[in-house]
Amino acid sequence: MPKYKHIFFDLDHTLWDYDANATASLNELYATHGLDRYGQFLPEQMVATFFEVNYELWELYNAHKIGKEDIRSLRFPRIFEKMQVPLALLPNGFEDEYVALCPTKSKTFPHAHDILTYLGNKYELHIITNGFNTIQKCKLESADLAKFFSKVVTSESSQARKPHPKIFEFAFQLTGASAQDSLMIGDNLTSDIAGARNVNMDYIWFNPSNQKTKLEIQQEVMNLLSLRDLL
Ligand SMILES: [Mg+2]
Repeated sequence: MPKYKHIFFDLDHTLWDYDANATASLNELYATHGLDRYGQFLPEQMVATFFEVNYELWELYNAHKIGKEDIRSLRFPRIFEKMQVPLALLPNGFEDEYVALCPTKSKTFPHAHDILTYLGNKYELHIITNGFNTIQKCKLESADLAKFFSKVVTSESSQARKPHPKIFEFAFQLTGASAQDSLMIGDNLTSDIAGARNVNMDYIWFNPSNQKTKLEIQQEVMNLLSLRDLL
């Protein structure tokens, strides 16, 4: 008998290639708005600054220090401020366009569909994400990932955010799973891995960029296909 019945996957940066999809979206918006005409900043600069600011805002969101609307209202003004570009050059509705465009992108990490096919034959698969309902649904459909998952738990539907135990308890109740028969797979040490530890659930850290940590990690893979050797 396999040890686990349920596998909970994180979505962003674990299956759906957030960085690649965000980069493609930002480059597209830079071009459609002709932002080069100001001669103030290059698309690469906007992309790099986006990742810095976005990371900070999501860490604050995960820690319950800000809400969803704060991410949306603060993100691009902060990016422009950090690039020292006048806010007047930020096109109206840029955030809304970004939020509408990005989830339609479909790039996933290598072998995502293969490994989900393999795991789906052995375990019940679910998503547990700190993202938002409509956005995450759109990403799952755009990337042809929705079909693999029985339940999708978001920070909106659970009214809680990883690493808080409440989102995991909500997920267990919804799926009939328990910490003992479940496994968490995700890229983020402070949300996915800390969250799994908080509820005593086993986990595998997806670490594609080979980050170093002082934490003692149960199990770790650098690419999704290696999950085959463990599960
Ligand atoms: Mg993630």
